Amino acid sequence: MSVEAKEIHHYPCASCGADLVFEPHDGFLTCPYCGHKEAIPESSELVEEQSYQQHFWIRPEQMEKLADNALEVQCQSCGAKSIFMPPQVAGRCEFCGVQIVAQPKSADPILTPGGVLPFSITQQQASSSLRQWLSSRWFAPNNLKHFAEPEAIHGIYLPFWTYDTNTTTDYTGQRGEYYYVTETYYDRDAQGRQVERTRQVRHTRWYPASGTVTGSFDDVLIPATTSLPSNRLAALEPWDFPQLRSYDPAFLAGFKAQRYQIDLKQGFELVKQVIAPAIENAVTNDIGGDEQRIESVSTEYSDITFKHLLLPVYAGAYRYNSKLFQILVNGRTGEIQGERPYSFWKIALLVVTIVIVIVILVLVFGNR
Ligand SMILES: [Zn+2]
Ligand SMILES: [Zn+2]
Repeated sequence: MSVEAKEIHHYPCASCGADLVFEPHDGFLTCPYCGHKEAIPESSELVEEQSYQQHFWIRPEQMEKLADNALEVQCQSCGAKSIFMPPQVAGRCEFCGVQIVAQPKSADPILTPGGVLPFSITQQQASSSLRQWLSSRWFAPNNLKHFAEPEAIHGIYLPFWTYDTNTTTDYTGQRGEYYYVTETYYDRDAQGRQVERTRQVRHTRWYPASGTVTGSFDDVLIPATTSLPSNRLAALEPWDFPQLRSYDPAFLAGFKAQRYQIDLKQGFELVKQVIAPAIENAVTNDIGGDEQRIESVSTEYSDITFKHLLLPVYAGAYRYNSKLFQILVNGRTGEIQGERPYSFWKIALLVVTIVIVIVILVLVFGNR
């Protein structure tokens, strides 16, 4: 490894010289050997929103490494890139479960995070709630017990963007208003005679409609990782954003982080998709009437600001019957997200048992 020795000990313990790691339990940098603790300085800076325009063309000076001594490694199997600080090692890939063998290199600069939600749940707590979650899943194959091992999940900070934006939308469409027409029709009465009856029939008259609606969107959260499905990440919400801290590399000591794979502009394209239904809703309300047709919508986005955040997750992955299973634990709330495979043999055994019980019951009670 081409990392100089002086860089390796970034947070040396004042009493024994070992590397301090971030302890989720109390939020201190803690020496795993002698227990010495150091507070991470509380920054007076608020986690501020930054102007999107100013970062639209990101200048090199706005890019930094997550930490001076950060190393980066790419999983040879799924391509996920993760960043960590020595003495951490690459270990197993959190996203596909493969042992990473690639040589780490010095991390490339990224747009530095504005804020971080530090881990507040320890690895042991996450592992033990995962064990509970697994044991309550009767149909899970025994191989899934792999997740019950303490090393099965690791703490990793995942990258997110949040955006604020105002919108101005010009639209054209049509407003449909109902009106009723009395129609005459013929029917037969109880005696089979033809009779004349009337009924009210609804029609829609369409009028052209156009106008402008404005909207204001606050903290639209967009995952900046492509290693995990976005619905699974969304299911980890809510995050306690009032507890955000200004970014300090010290929070990463002992953990990994992932660099963003969805960049600032790609993230904003996703924002447009996320808020489109709300804008369409506003247009529909503005058109009014009983029915609406939207023909064209053109939205301008203004006052765009963003934050780049790192959020804490314990993640692990495991293959069963060549299918990939990913487990995520929210590093703040302990909320677990993961699908579970069904064990064919466990289910088959249950079915056979039920059949045998039914056969026995029929034999015992059926011949009376
Ligand atoms: Zn120490
Ligand atoms: Zn991988």
